Amino acid sequence: MSGNRKPDYIALLECGHNKEGWREFGATTYCLYCQAEKRITKSMPQFHISCLGCRYARSTGSAEFAARRLADRHGRRYPHHGLQIYRGSILWEDRRPYSDVRTYELPFSPPF
Ligand SMILES: [Zn+2]
Ligand SMILES: [Zn+2]
Repeated sequence: MSGNRKPDYIALLECGHNKEGWREFGATTYCLYCQAEKRITKSMPQFHISCLGCRYARSTGSAEFAARRLADRHGRRYPHHGLQIYRGSILWEDRRPYSDVRTYELPFSPPF
């Protein structure tokens, strides 16, 4: 649906930093913070929120609570927007607006 799809996985490196888009457990990857090759010690799905009512989209790494909190906040601000929370590529939570009909009345995407 959206063109700029964020990486589904996030890797934890042996140095404690993390990096998006890597899922090969045991492989090494270049850590931008340490500026050195580091081993991937853990790989986990990343949470994303995407809004069906506007172009709002966020990634929150492995933090599900952060994804829910952002979705709550956006949903309160724009009650007519349907939000979807993804865990990796899996649809994790589907929040439809109170009334789907109202979305047609929105002329433009709201400012963020
Ligand atoms: Zn590092
Ligand atoms: Zn929205």
